[in-house]
Amino acid sequence: MTFGMVTADISSIALRRRCRGVRHSRLWWLWLTVGTLATGSYYLLPEGGMGRNVVYQAIGLASALFIVLAVRLHRPPHPAMWYWFAAAEAIWFVADIIFEYYQYTEVEAPYPSEADALYLLGYPMIFVALQRVAHRNGNGGRDVAGLVDATILATGLGLVFWVVMMEPLAADSTAPMLERLVSVAYPAADVLLLALLARLAFGVASWTPTMRLLAVGVVLLLIGDTGYSLLDLYTDSDGTYLDAMFLLSYVTWGAAALHPSMCPPAAVARAESRMTAGRILLLGTSSLLGPVLLLVPRIGGNIRDRSAIGIGAIVLFLLVLLRMSGFVGQVQRQARQLADMAMRDDLTGLANRRRFERDLGRALRRGDRPVVALVGLTGFKSVNDQLGHAVGDQLLVSVGRRLSAGVDPRALVARMGSDEFAILIGDATPESAATLVETITAALHDAFHVGGHELLINGSIGMAEATDATTAMELFRRADIAMYAAKTSGESCRWYTAELDQLAGEEARLGAELRTALDAGQFRLVYQPIVELPHGHIKAVETLVRWDHPERGFISPAEFIPVAERNGLIMELGAWILREACQQASRWRAELGDLAPERISVNASARQLAHRGFAALVASALKDSGLSATSLTIEVTETAVFEGGQAVDTLHRLHDLGVRIALDDFGTGHSSLGLLQTVPVDVLKVDKSFVDTITMAGRHAVIATALIQVADGLGLTAVAEGVETAEQAAELERLGYRLAQGFYFGRPEAQPDFTRDRGAAVGPATA
Ligand code: C2E
Ligand code: MG
Ligand code: MG
Repeated sequence: MTFGMVTADISSIALRRRCRGVRHSRLWWLWLTVGTLATGSYYLLPEGGMGRNVVYQAIGLASALFIVLAVRLHRPPHPAMWYWFAAAEAIWFVADIIFEYYQYTEVEAPYPSEADALYLLGYPMIFVALQRVAHRNGNGGRDVAGLVDATILATGLGLVFWVVMMEPLAADSTAPMLERLVSVAYPAADVLLLALLARLAFGVASWTPTMRLLAVGVVLLLIGDTGYSLLDLYTDSDGTYLDAMFLLSYVTWGAAALHPSMCPPAAVARAESRMTAGRILLLGTSSLLGPVLLLVPRIGGNIRDRSAIGIGAIVLFLLVLLRMSGFVGQVQRQARQLADMAMRDDLTGLANRRRFERDLGRALRRGDRPVVALVGLTGFKSVNDQLGHAVGDQLLVSVGRRLSAGVDPRALVARMGSDEFAILIGDATPESAATLVETITAALHDAFHVGGHELLINGSIGMAEATDATTAMELFRRADIAMYAAKTSGESCRWYTAELDQLAGEEARLGAELRTALDAGQFRLVYQPIVELPHGHIKAVETLVRWDHPERGFISPAEFIPVAERNGLIMELGAWILREACQQASRWRAELGDLAPERISVNASARQLAHRGFAALVASALKDSGLSATSLTIEVTETAVFEGGQAVDTLHRLHDLGVRIALDDFGTGHSSLGLLQTVPVDVLKVDKSFVDTITMAGRHAVIATALIQVADGLGLTAVAEGVETAEQAAELERLGYRLAQGFYFGRPEAQPDFTRDRGAAVGPATA
C-alpha cells in the first residue's frame, strides 16, 4: 500500500519535470477571447459573402495550428490525443473549402458530396481523441461502473436520437439510398460522440480547465450537429446561427490545448464511481426516456419506433440491473475493507491488538490450548531518537515481515504497541511452542538493513500458555509479565510461571519500602578508592549507596536500584546521594587538604539522565557544597546513554559545567565505539569481567588490551574495575592501565583511610 503511493509520487515528480505547462499561461485566454470575438464578427459580415467564409476557415485553421503549437510548448507526456483533435479540425477545414467551392461554382452543391465524406471522416478522429482523453484522465477502463453509467446515458439519449432523427431520415423513401445513409450517419456519429462525452463525464478523475474546455467543445459540436439535423428535418430555416456552435467548439478546443493544465499531473486519483444523488437522478431519467417516448402520440403508432424503444428499454433495464449489482458489490467490498482496517495495524499491515484479542478469545472458547508469545524490542526507542521516526517505522515493518515469514502460517502475528509484537498459536503443542521461540529468536538474530543503517535489535520474549481457567486478558497479562521478567534479567525468553507473579509482588513491596527507607534515613553512602598504578596512591573514590533494612539487613544496590528506577524513586534517592557525596568530598578537602581524594564519582541511572533537570541538580549540588565541578565524575552505563536523546543532551550539559563523564561497566552493554565519539566521555571503566580473566592463560587479555588501546587512542582515561588480586594489578599495569579499583585496593567504606597508599606492599584491604 505504502509502496504504491511512493511510486505514484516519484512518477508525478518525473512528469512535472518533463512538462513545461507553467509557462505561456496566458496564451489560452488570449485565444479564447480573440476566437470568441472572431466568431462574433462572423455574424457582422454580410450573409453569403466571401468575408464570412474567410473568418470561418481562419478560425478552424487557427485552432488546429494552436493545438499543434500547444503540444510544442507544453510537451505533454501523451501528445497523440491532441494531434487527433488537430487532424479532425484540419480535415473539416478541407471539407469546408470543398463545400464552399461548390457553393461558388455550382448552383447547388451535390448531396452527398466529397465534403460529406471528409466531414464524416473527422468524427472517428474525434472519437479516438476523446477515447484517449478518457483513458489518460480517467480510470483507464478499470472503472466498470463509470462505463455502465455512460452506456445507460448514451442508450437513453440514443433512443431519443433514433426516434426524433435517425428513424425519420432512414424512412424517407423519396431520397436515394446513399443520401439516406449519409443523413443517418451524422446523428449516428453524434450518438457515439454523446456516449464518449458521457464516458468522460463519469470517468474523469480531476476536472482541470483543459478537461472542462474540451468537454464544452464537444457539447457545442453536439448542439450544432443536432440543431442542423433537426432544422433540416422539421423546419425550412438554414440555421446559420448554429455555425457559432462549430466555431466556438474549435475555439474551446484550441484554448483547451493552450491551457497549462493540458499537461496532466501523473498521479490521477483513481476514485471509484460513486453513487451521488445527481448521478442517480441522471441515470433514472435516462432509463425513463424510452417509456416516456412511447407517450408521444406520433411515435406510439410507428412499429419500427416501438420495437426500437422496446429493445432500448430492455437494454436500459439490464444495464441498470448490472449497475445496481455492481453497486451492491461495491458497498459490500467497502464494508469488508472497513472491517479489515479496524483489525489491522496501519504501519505494518499486521493484525492489531483488537484482532489478536478477538482470535485469542475465540481459541479459548473453542477449548483449544493457545500459546501467546509477546516480543518486546530493546533499543527501539534509541533507533527512533537517533535515526528518526522514518527509520524506526521501517524497522518495525521489517521486524513484522520477518516474524510473519518465519512463523507457521496458521499462527497470527500482531503488532500490539509501539515496539511490541505478539504471536498466537491457536492450538499449540509443546513442540510447536518451542519451535515458535526458536523462530522468533532466529528472525531477530540478523541485522536489519534499514535506511542505509545496519541495526542489531534485541528482543525479549514472554511466553504464556492457556491453562484451564485463563481468559484472553489473563493470558495476555501473563505473557506480559514473562516478557518483562526476560527484559529485566537480560534473558531472551521467559515462560510465565506463578513465581513471576510472586516476584512482581515482591518488587511492589520493595518499592513501597524504599519510600519509607528514604524518609527514615536507612540509606548511607560508602566510598571505594580508585588508585594509581603501580604505587596505589588514592586518586579518587566512587560513591556507592547502601541500604540497611531494619528487618532484612543489608540489601544490595544491584537489587534495589533497578526497583527504584522503575518506580521513579531513584530521582529522589539519586538527588540525596549526589548532594551527600558532594558535601562529603568538600568536607574531606577542608579536613585533609592534599590528602583528600582529587575526585569523587557518583553513579547516575538512566532515568536520572533522561530527566531534563538533572544537569541543573548537579550544578546546585556543586554550588551548595562548594565542590568544584572538575572534582566530580558522573558514572553512567552505556545502555543509559544508548537509550536516547535527552540522556545525551544531559551529558553535554554536565560536560559544559566541567563535570567529567565516565562510562561504567564498559564492554558489557552495547559497546558501540561510535558512542565514544557522539557522547562527551572522559573515562572508560573497563568491566570487572574483563579483569577477572586477565591473568588466565590463553587469549583472555585480548579485550582488556584492546580497551586500553581504544582509551589511549581517543585520549580517554581507563579505569580497571573489580581488581581482586596482586597478579591482576601487575598485569593491568603491564598492559598500560594507570588507574584501578577493586577489593584488592580497598573495599567501599564510609570513611576510607586516605593517609596510606594501597596495593601489593600493603596487601588486600578488608572492609
Ligand atoms: P558499579 O557502579 O559498577 O559499582 C561497582 C560495584 O562493584 C560495587 O558494587 C562495588 O562494591 C563492586 N566492587 C568493587 N570492587 C570489587 C571487587 O574487587 N570485586 C567484586 N566482586 N566487586 C567489586 P555495589 O556497591 O554492590 O554496586 C552495584 C551497582 O549498583 C553499581 O555498580 C552501580 O551500578 C549500582 N549503584 C551502587 N550505588 C549506586 C548509587 O549511588 N546510584 C546509582 N544510580 N547506582 C548505584
Ligand atoms: Mg560505578
Ligand atoms: Mg562498574
